[in-house]
Amino acid sequence: MSASLPFAHVPHPAPTAAAVRAEVLANPGFGTRFTDHMVSIDWSEDKGWHDAQVLPYGPIPLDPAASVLHYAQEIFEGLKAYRHPDGSMALFRPDANARRFNASARRLAMPELPEDLFVEAIRQLVRADKDWFPTVEGGSLYLRPFMIATEAFLGVRPAKQYKFLVIASPAGNYFKSGAPAVSIWVSDYTRAAPGGTGAAKCGGNYAASLVPTAEAFAQGHDQVLFLDAAEHKWIEELGGMNLFFVFADGSLITPPLTGTILPGITRDSLLTLAREEGLTVREERYSLDQWRADAASGQLVEVFACGTAAVVTPVGKVADRNGDFTIGSGGPGQLTGKLKARLTAIQRGEAPDSHGWVSVLD
Ligand SMILES: *Cc1c(COP(=O)(O)O)cnc(C)c1O
Repeated sequence: MSASLPFAHVPHPAPTAAAVRAEVLANPGFGTRFTDHMVSIDWSEDKGWHDAQVLPYGPIPLDPAASVLHYAQEIFEGLKAYRHPDGSMALFRPDANARRFNASARRLAMPELPEDLFVEAIRQLVRADKDWFPTVEGGSLYLRPFMIATEAFLGVRPAKQYKFLVIASPAGNYFKSGAPAVSIWVSDYTRAAPGGTGAAKCGGNYAASLVPTAEAFAQGHDQVLFLDAAEHKWIEELGGMNLFFVFADGSLITPPLTGTILPGITRDSLLTLAREEGLTVREERYSLDQWRADAASGQLVEVFACGTAAVVTPVGKVADRNGDFTIGSGGPGQLTGKLKARLTAIQRGEAPDSHGWVSVLD
């Protein structure tokens, strides 16, 4: 099975009025407005992947007994399409999202989607909704591919029917006035244990992170940080972003991919760019105690979080029940800004793509 699966097109009978769309695109926010179309592809044991469609965005019929509603067989991805200065549309490393989607599918006992079909589905949707790119600086079209188990069956086993969908949402600059440094709360809860689903991008991980995140908000912080489940000592990641530590000698550390953290594509891209800058980057365990000590001694000068939605976010302050500490000046750091600028310039087509990361749509 390949991308040669034909896509049927059902155009929206009453697309969003141009004036309304223009208003949304001038102030898109994040994840609240959706384009006129979506992609849907079904899977069954006997037919495999079939019935690929670009159809009007809207509710999907779902049996109340569908397994996703009971046992949470659900995985997703997140990536962005950009409008480049020359007017072309481009995706950033969609093949990496396709590979990670299938890794998540294997962990959740779901069928894999051929990588070229995953990417083609996204391309079909971006083309159908090409008029939905935000007009604001730093805007993009955020794409959300996901898969759910649709079989109506309450027994506990992998479902025999699935639906793959892609929806699109115009996205503004995550932080309006550049990236302010965020304050993070070190949670007593854990996100993922060895052998669990931490490396899979599944909705269940997010459901489990909501209470810890609410706790962080209640304490006046912006994000939650999770430590490892076994020793409650090693830094893992935030609720939806990976972390980098920048030291006074110019070296960087990011926690290694041991199976309990999500292998971020932004993380991977920044590892490459940092090494190209001649920086020493180590994928190495780093403890909260060491972090506190290094921040106090001045060894540690910057910390940033990274992920597709906000790209790179400086971390200014860290707190747990024993008190808090500040990183560097408490504001955005220099190297953080430099790496962010390098990555976003490639994504936006403002700098040459020497890595084959940018996938232009015809
Ligand atoms: C998606 C995600 C990330 C970031 O991955 P990117 O590919 O960089 O967007 C980090 N952590 C978690 C838990 C995630 O779900």
